[in-house]
This record gives sequence, C-alpha cells and structure tokens, in this order.
Amino acid sequence: MSVCEILSVGTEILLGDILNTNSKYLSVQLAKLGISVLRHTTVGDNPERLAAALKTALERSDIVIATGGLGPTADDITRDVCCEVMGFEMTTDNRIAEKIKGYFNSKGLEMPETNLRQALVPVGGDVFENNHGTAPGLGLKKDGKCVVMLPGPPYEMAPMYHESVVDYLREYSDGAIVSHTVRTMGIGESAMAEICADLLNNENPTVAPYAKKGEALLRITAKGETEEEAEKLCTPVIDEVCKRLGNYVYGIDSESIEQRVVELLKEKNLKIATAESCTAGYIPKRITDIAGASSVFDFGAITYSNEMKHKILGVREETLASHGAVSEQTAREMAAGIRRVSGADIGISVTGIAGPGSDGTNKPVGLCFIALDAEDCNIFEKIETGKNDREYNRYVTASRALNLARVYIEGKEK
Ligand code: ATP
Repeated sequence: MSVCEILSVGTEILLGDILNTNSKYLSVQLAKLGISVLRHTTVGDNPERLAAALKTALERSDIVIATGGLGPTADDITRDVCCEVMGFEMTTDNRIAEKIKGYFNSKGLEMPETNLRQALVPVGGDVFENNHGTAPGLGLKKDGKCVVMLPGPPYEMAPMYHESVVDYLREYSDGAIVSHTVRTMGIGESAMAEICADLLNNENPTVAPYAKKGEALLRITAKGETEEEAEKLCTPVIDEVCKRLGNYVYGIDSESIEQRVVELLKEKNLKIATAESCTAGYIPKRITDIAGASSVFDFGAITYSNEMKHKILGVREETLASHGAVSEQTAREMAAGIRRVSGADIGISVTGIAGPGSDGTNKPVGLCFIALDAEDCNIFEKIETGKNDREYNRYVTASRALNLARVYIEGKEK
C-alpha cells in the first residue's frame, strides 16, 4: 500500500493561530482512496526547514501532500522549495497569468505584480486549476515519488483535491478504507472496552475504543478492494457492537446527542422543556442548534438562585433547606416544576457544581444531578465527573441530561 505524509506549511499553525483542519480533512479523504497516511508534519514558512522536512518525508513516504504557502508573497515558499528539492525547473504559464489577471479584473481590482509568482509552474510537472482562488495546485512525479502542492485556504484546497488530485493519485490507491464510529453515553471507555474486549483483537475490521468529552466511542475500520466491500465488512461488527452495548449507544458517526433527541421528539410528537442551574442555557442552546427544534421545544428556564428555583419552578423551600440546591430532590422538583409550568410532555433539569470552587458545602466539584419528569415517571441520575473543569462539567452534564431524555423516549417505544 502506498504511504503518504501530509506536510502542512505555515507559521500560523505552529503559533496556534489556526487549527490544522487541512490535515484532518485530507487524512479522511486519502483513507477513502486506499492510501495510508502515516505522518502529519507541520513546518513554518522557512525555506531551509521546509526543504529538510520535505526530504525526510520523501525518504519514508511515496506521496507527500503539502498544503499552504502557494500565495504571492515572499513568505509563500512551498512552490519554490518543492520544485528545487524534486529537481524541477519553473516557468511562467501565460494562460495561468492571464487567468489571475482576469480574476482581479472581475473583482474590479488592480493585480499586484507579485501575484504573477502564482503563474510559475514546474516544467514537466502538473497543474491543478483553482476554481475558488488564484494559486493553482501543482503536482510533481519523479522516480516513484509524488509531491502534491495545494493552497492553504480549506475552501480552495478541498474542491481542488476532489476535482483534480483524486484522479492524480489513483495509481497509488490500493483498495479502500472505511471507518464508522459507534457513539455511546452513560458508560465509561474502559467498561465499554471490556464488553467488546474480544472484538478489539480483530484485524479487519479493526475495533478501537476512545473517549471524547463525556462520551465513549468505538471506531470500526475496514479495508477492502472497494468501498462497498469495506462497508460490508463493517456492518456485522457494528451490529454486534450495538447489540452488546444496548441502549448506551445513541448514534453512529456524526449524529450528536441533541440531534438524536430532537429526532425522537419529532417522531413521537412530544415536547420537552428544560430547567437549568449550573448549565444555564446550555441544553436549549444545543437543542435549538438543530433545525426544526421549534416543533419540540417551547420553553427553558435558568434558575440559578434558590429563590428562582422556588418562585418559578415551585421547588419547595424545605427541599432546598434540607437537601441543598445540588441534590437529587431539588433536581426532581425542578423537572416536575418545568413540566408543569410549560405544559411540555417531558421536563428535564440540571443542578450541580461546575467549579472551579465548590458551593460552600462539602459537595465535590463536578457533582451534578439531572432529572426527568413525565406523566409516567420522575427519574434522576447522579453524575460525578471528577474534573475541576467548568466548561467540561457544564458540557458533559448537558449531554447527560439530553441522554436521559433519549433513553426515556426510546424506552417508551418498547
Ligand atoms: P493564499 O494565496 O491565501 O496566501 P496559501 O496557499 O499561500 O494561500 P497560506 O498563506 O499558507 O496559503 O494560508 C492561507 C490561509 O489558509 C491561512 O491563513 C489559513 O486561514 C488557511 N490555512 C492554511 N493552512 C491551513 C491548514 N493546514 N488548515 C486549515 N487552514 C489552513
């Protein structure tokens, strides 16, 4: 199988000014093409370091894909350095020069002379048209090695990859790799891994557990001659994983917990209302991120103080005094209260300690109670994240409250 290295060029990536989404994007796409990406390298806009990184990459990889540094300014060095290292002369391509001039004219702008650098192309190399910007992409193939240069802006790089580079690299393609992710909530990564322990030794597809902000995930990756064949290998393993993990599984691939909840509410023609203390609006924010949420969500209350928990939601003063705001009892009464006030079918609530400080009691940071009230039940869950991270605690608690709603609605189906 051909081996590829992605070489991101740009000091702004090293400084942390921008996130290297190009490498992520290209890795996913190259896997689909059956090309193994074994390394991501990032280097600043420095000719010596770029040349050294490229030489090293070419020693260990068949293909190097460089992104960034194809612009018109002096610090855009990718074109010059790659051509020099690969031993290609450069020449001006008049057709591209005209196109660049035309691009500026169409925007009513005068073209700076430096932009003509972007019309320099390698003699004997390949040129990929840029339909979304000025710098063309370039390809160099020599002595069994291949270097592809793509522009930095993702909205130029991605279409160019699909329009030109996929075909350019097809001769290196060796079958296809397909990957799917089973997403679970409410179970830890190690417990999940234990349930699927024997599957983790599989070779094709491979099954790999990982964790992400309050979720445990399993990635199932298969390699086949074609995408269809790889998909066929994945399907029975995904089914087996879902069977074993039961209702901890809330979705496959990119579906989010809020998406799943909104979908279920729509399907069942139900409405949900929210009462929050420490998450203060996080849950409605995530519900309403989903288009069409207005048919399932009317009302959410943020009741940060005890007074408002009592006044708006009817949480009893005795409950607050004897159990405290962060307690199972308060969460249960908040959920019942919001359901009563809103007239929704389901009320969910959150009360907890997001941190960094505790609430003056001896309760630990990261302790949260979530509850759900419906006509047939009033249930709660206690969450202890064990983390002193305000953002994490708020996010994870909101996720778990949404998950409680998901499990309840799915349970109603049965
Ligand atoms: P330009 O003609 O716009 O100068 P370029 O090919 O020279 O394009 P760079 O100057 O390196 O590209 O980067 C331009 C912009 O593209 C960056 O400011 C950044 O917004 C984006 N970009 C560059 N590299 C990446 C990357 N690896 N991931 C995500 N975005 C990137």
